[in-house]
Amino acid sequence: MNFTKAEFARSAADPKDFLRDGLPQMAFAGRSNVGKSSVINRLVGRKNLAYVGATPGKTTQINYFKVDGRAWLVDLPGYGYAKVSRSEKERWGRLMERYFQDEGDILTVGVLIVDARHKPTDDDVTMYNWFRESGCPEIVAANKLDKLKAREVEPNLALIRQTLEMADDEPLVPFSAEKGTGREQLIALLEAVCGK
Ligand code: GDP
Repeated sequence: MNFTKAEFARSAADPKDFLRDGLPQMAFAGRSNVGKSSVINRLVGRKNLAYVGATPGKTTQINYFKVDGRAWLVDLPGYGYAKVSRSEKERWGRLMERYFQDEGDILTVGVLIVDARHKPTDDDVTMYNWFRESGCPEIVAANKLDKLKAREVEPNLALIRQTLEMADDEPLVPFSAEKGTGREQLIALLEAVCGK
């Protein structure tokens, strides 16, 4: 799949706008500021396909990008913004619930982006479990690897695996949206599920 052939298709703030056309869906989730937009932009080789530095107010929509005419890259709204109102948090929760429980069985693979520097948050654990409960394969990408010292990498990855209670065969990809580290590995894992 040629990830550089990606284009924005639509936003959905409501289940009636979810896409259910049978193409594989690769859903990306992560805490705000973890670098989800930067990871997506790195994958597609573009500076600003996904909007970096998105502000609260944009937190309750799902953005769909078509990749090479073959699959959907689904940018799920980030979570954990400090300044989001309770009603917006509830809207986010309802939207996620509807996406994960959609009867169209629309999810093909989940990509959870966590911060390589930190222990995953409770929200990260919750999101990881939502993917797991949906029954789709899940990939975790530990972003901002470039901010770690070499000796910190292994212990940090181990802490991420342990906190999320990842099975041994579940992939954890060390990633740097800044440097491009992990791009090929993540694409290979996505293609293994969605087709080349
Ligand atoms: P989002 O809110 O999850 O979409 O995060 P953004 O993509 O907007 O990134 C948040 C901030 O982290 C921005 O200042 C990015 O430049 C920075 N960032 C994202 N990925 C990396 C990375 O791999 N390394 C470094 N050093 N900074 C990153």
